Amino acid sequence: MNILVLPGDGIGPEITRATLQVLEAADRRFALGLRFETADIGFAALEASGTTLPDEVPKRARAADGILLGPIDHMAYPPRDQGGVNVSAAFRTGLDLFANIRPARTRPGVPHRGSDMDLVIVRECTEGMYPDRNMARGIGEFMPDPDMALSVRKITRRASTRIARVAFELARRRRRRVTTVHKANNFVMTDGLFLEAVRAVAGDYPDVEASEIIVDAMAAHLVRDAGRFDVICTSNFHGDILSDLASELAGGLGLAGAINANDERCAAQAQHGSAPDIAGRGIANPTSLILSASMMLAFLGEKRRLASYSTAARAVETAIDRTLAETHERTPDLGGNSTTETFATAVVRALESTPT
Ligand code: ATP
Repeated sequence: MNILVLPGDGIGPEITRATLQVLEAADRRFALGLRFETADIGFAALEASGTTLPDEVPKRARAADGILLGPIDHMAYPPRDQGGVNVSAAFRTGLDLFANIRPARTRPGVPHRGSDMDLVIVRECTEGMYPDRNMARGIGEFMPDPDMALSVRKITRRASTRIARVAFELARRRRRRVTTVHKANNFVMTDGLFLEAVRAVAGDYPDVEASEIIVDAMAAHLVRDAGRFDVICTSNFHGDILSDLASELAGGLGLAGAINANDERCAAQAQHGSAPDIAGRGIANPTSLILSASMMLAFLGEKRRLASYSTAARAVETAIDRTLAETHERTPDLGGNSTTETFATAVVRALESTPT
């Protein structure tokens, strides 16, 4: 299997290196036959070729079996006409990786706020409130005059239906509950259409319990008792914010893995950004990208029917859990003084010694 590795900006190169250490160990142990090729995106690519996303990268991504996508510092990019392309958005729309799957689970040995939880946010990520991905031409945000800015939100029945299907299918493999998060009381047409599409899909899954919650109430419910939720289905912007909240409640953004997927392809991408405040110091927590990589292995295991990949995915997650529960290895975001590298080395050790 060919994995395209895109280290990205800020802490990206550090956590990517650590994740590769773990993937290489998984490859050795489970004979996965992984082959890695690396390409520059973000500031490294901007310097070398004048754009944060050289044309050849999406082409190589389409040809690869899996993608390891590091975080990007889009906020600091120059305007698009000077080469600043939002790589994350371009991957989601260009490769149609419409489902952003973001688990939040409490882990033994990691302090967390509130109740124990094990939930997954299934977030639509190709349209919605994001101006750089909701128009065929131009962007969905504009300024009629310097003191007025307007923004357009796009919700389609097609995108809402397909994300709902991902959520209900996932719930069938978990605790069979889907909570749809919306704001249809105010966004009567857009969130109303989203809800209508989800309800239609829910009808095909009588074995899955479906409920609905308004987004602001959902924020309160997550803080109060996140343990009651299983799969949360929502549109782009709501999902972006709620997933940071859920991950922090579960123990921290540094633990938050994710994939962007469609039926055939997926990119492993941590939930957090490029954390420029700690970049280059070797102290970033690599767990989020390691868990994202584990989700990618699980995805490949399921879609290509490769038991060794599914086993490797579980083993990587267990190695993370064991490292956090049984050792004192902690990066500073979790109150420890491990480096990115020593933490990854401990995960490799746990992976090599975990029975399967
Ligand atoms: P960006 O603009 O790229 O989104 P950001 O700093 O605004 O970057 P995040 O990167 O998501 O947003 O970071 C939010 C906070 O969480 C920062 O203080 C950052 O240092 C911290 N953080 C995020 N990821 C990690 C990580 N893997 N390890 C340690 N701390 C992290």
